[in-house]
Amino acid sequence: MARNLGPVCRLCRREGLKLFLKGERCYTDKCAIERRNYPPGAHGQSRTRFSEFSIRLREKQKVKRIYGLLEKQFARYFELAERMPGITGENLLVLLERRLDTVVLRLGFATSPAQARQLVRHGHVQVDGKTVTIPSFLLDVNQTVSINEKSRQKKVVLDAIELAQRRGVPSWISLDREQFRGSLKALPARADLTMPISEKLIVEHYSR
Ligand code: SF4
Repeated sequence: MARNLGPVCRLCRREGLKLFLKGERCYTDKCAIERRNYPPGAHGQSRTRFSEFSIRLREKQKVKRIYGLLEKQFARYFELAERMPGITGENLLVLLERRLDTVVLRLGFATSPAQARQLVRHGHVQVDGKTVTIPSFLLDVNQTVSINEKSRQKKVVLDAIELAQRRGVPSWISLDREQFRGSLKALPARADLTMPISEKLIVEHYSR
């Protein structure tokens, strides 16, 4: 499966925001945003005037990167969100939160989107008791996500759980840490999603 293999801290610096793509490091002062909060590249520190197009483009890129998606995948989610009843921008964010790899991350079984995707791809995650290896699998409310019994003592999982205990779990997710299991209690409401995202700009970007 295609994925972004470049240096991820550059992505945060490009967006001028912590996107939490590197696990524990993101919570330390080694984070590149803490050290060099300006865009990467030779002209990173020069003053730039942003056009309306570039503001909308950056918003789309930011969300795409938070969820670790490539252009085509993200565009497909947008098309799906457009066809759904309701507000397109909100539909888009809810769809992204329903992805299996996102839920694994939110449950605290992984420290970064890339690690969550790898856990799923390598068969360490079950949905309703059956192994699912598709990170984009869309979960419904009350479907159960668990770590495969054989994988529960893996260091990456245990380290992730330890870090997650300090971070907490979002309100729309229920977690039984002892059983390495959790589920979507409900679909998140827009107010629950606290990342600084302006989905309206993404809708405008695709409507141009
Ligand atoms: Fe982004 Fe994490 Fe790198 Fe900081 S450490 S720049 S939050 S990926």
